[in-house]
Amino acid sequence: MKKMLNDRYEILDKIGDGGMAFVYKARCTILNRIVAIKVLRPEFSDDEEFLLKFKNEALASAGLTHPNIVNIYDVGQDEEINYIVMEYVDGMNLKDLIKKKGALDYSYALDIMKQIAMALNQAHKNGIVHRDIKPHNILISQDNVAKVADFGIAKATTSSTITVVGNVIGSVHYFSPEQARGGYIDKTSDLYSLGIVLYEMVTGKVPFKGDTPVNIALKHINENIDFEKDIPKDIPKDIKGLLYKLTQKKQSDRYQSAYELINDIEHIENNIELDFEEDYELYHTQKLNILNEELKTSIPKQLEEEGVNTNMRRKSKDKINNKKKLTILGILLALILSLSIVFVAYNLKGFFITKNYEMIDFENATLEDATNRLEAIGVSVQVRKELYDSSVEKNHIISQVPSAGSSIKKGQTVKFDVSKGGEPVTVPNVVRKTLESVEDILKESDLKEGVIDYEFSSLPEGTIISQKPRAFTEVEQGTGIDFIVSKGEEVKLVKVPNVVGKTLEDARILLVELGIGKIKYEENKDKKEGVILSQSLKGGQHVEEGKKIDLTVNEYKEEEVVEEEPSKKVIEKQISFALSEEEETVKVVVKEKGKNGSKNIYNKTIDIQKSGNMISVPIEGYEGETKEYEIYVDDAFYAKTTAEFK
Ligand code: ATP
Ligand code: MG
Repeated sequence: MKKMLNDRYEILDKIGDGGMAFVYKARCTILNRIVAIKVLRPEFSDDEEFLLKFKNEALASAGLTHPNIVNIYDVGQDEEINYIVMEYVDGMNLKDLIKKKGALDYSYALDIMKQIAMALNQAHKNGIVHRDIKPHNILISQDNVAKVADFGIAKATTSSTITVVGNVIGSVHYFSPEQARGGYIDKTSDLYSLGIVLYEMVTGKVPFKGDTPVNIALKHINENIDFEKDIPKDIPKDIKGLLYKLTQKKQSDRYQSAYELINDIEHIENNIELDFEEDYELYHTQKLNILNEELKTSIPKQLEEEGVNTNMRRKSKDKINNKKKLTILGILLALILSLSIVFVAYNLKGFFITKNYEMIDFENATLEDATNRLEAIGVSVQVRKELYDSSVEKNHIISQVPSAGSSIKKGQTVKFDVSKGGEPVTVPNVVRKTLESVEDILKESDLKEGVIDYEFSSLPEGTIISQKPRAFTEVEQGTGIDFIVSKGEEVKLVKVPNVVGKTLEDARILLVELGIGKIKYEENKDKKEGVILSQSLKGGQHVEEGKKIDLTVNEYKEEEVVEEEPSKKVIEKQISFALSEEEETVKVVVKEKGKNGSKNIYNKTIDIQKSGNMISVPIEGYEGETKEYEIYVDDAFYAKTTAEFK
């Protein structure tokens, strides 16, 4: 695939492939927005008639704008590549959602139904019938908005030129009886298909299954849904009623418009009872006739043996004639049924024509799907090699012989190389590593990140607590490893108890979840001694576990007897000394020596010329004390003296 279409759309990722196209996520470089681009499979690009219809239909639906319809932005061609540019829906298609979750909750299903019905209502009002309503074409965004894709495009696929590749296998499960018969299709045909979608949403499976498209199509024509057996008991009867009315075989028995359906859904949502009860009761007691049962088993065999071609009318007639025991009525009914098979066969003749077929590209398709499609036209399948390949899912096809575009015939064998998935690798240990470091570790082992969950833990935030699969187990290359990552410690809130009036001892027990902070003592003669007078955090409120609470405790003070110290008498004196007259200015420091070292009591620079060489320094001490003094001149020791204070 090219990286750029028409110098405008930059292809980013492949997001899906269907019967007739591949879908890519892309960026429109002009409008700088993300879009989805549906690129026609190359085998269709050569078919002028198909191409024209495809473009016309895409353009017709481009006129539709509705929040529940995937918007079409552009239709284009770049050399051989034909494409449609549309709104990108970030989410999942409904088929994958059902595959992942199984049956959906019925109120959720009802909400999706309503959204699809709104989309259909808009399209039908504009004269556009979808023709291919199926869960693959319903995209569910992350916030549960349903958007219907591929409006009207299916019309192009009814062209007789479509061979094996047609999307009929996927779609036939949702075909209305008139579509199966090749009859007249109208808006009620979309509503029938929507009924089948509803059935699948609430049960997790499709109602009519079969080995071949013809078989399935026949069931849409002949068989009824068994409401008693197949629909879960807890589904409200009004939803069964909706389903019943949507899936009526006769177009005129169904809802006549999407609008009517929306109305009924809204009634159900508002708990207003609807009155389809009678019809519905009748419906599940109705039995299929015996003849029909008999034909059901004989027809598929016949199809397998002979292929479905125009000779079938004669052969099935012969078979019926041989059954002598059948009543005349039986024969008539059988004739009508066999005629309907011819119609079906005609409608699906792309699968059964005995001429040459064009081999299509089965790369990435499941072996099962490819086998079903090829065996349906009498081509056998052989697995040539099983190989490890992490880029192709297990049991999906890596390559094929003959290649796409070659011609194949009934009776021929097609060979496939099938993927065994990625090669086995050993899972590395990532527990206790940070989430950021994991990407590189996984890349080295050819693994990728799986689902990440977050939990509170004593490990630092962002650290991995556990992993699945466990370290050192063997898994396939490309497997996703799920982690649980720490979101740090949980902040637990505790209720502050009221401890005022309690003893400190009791308070310590009550306050275990909090911490006791500062304890202050105060006196309050009105309260008992030892009790708590106040607390810094009010009782009854919630605070983080471990938060400190300060307490004030009642403590009776003892009467203080202050012993009066007899006051000592301070005596002031002077020490005097003479300096040498030779100097002009000198620095004089006097230190008084005491118990805790000496302290400067005098520090001056003296100009001897001006103030003379005799210095007197005032000193003081208590009566009876003796103190020592040291004199320094220009930082050098000069003299020492002692003074007695009397
Ligand atoms: P069919 O060929 O019968 O239509 P399909 O609907 O599965 O089958 P596509 O229409 O080619 O095939 O789409 C393939 C897948 O691509 C879809 O199932 C869907 O998951 C995804 N897809 C299609 N259109 C969009 C879109 N606009 N946004 C996001 N994903 C999309
Ligand atoms: Mg589609």
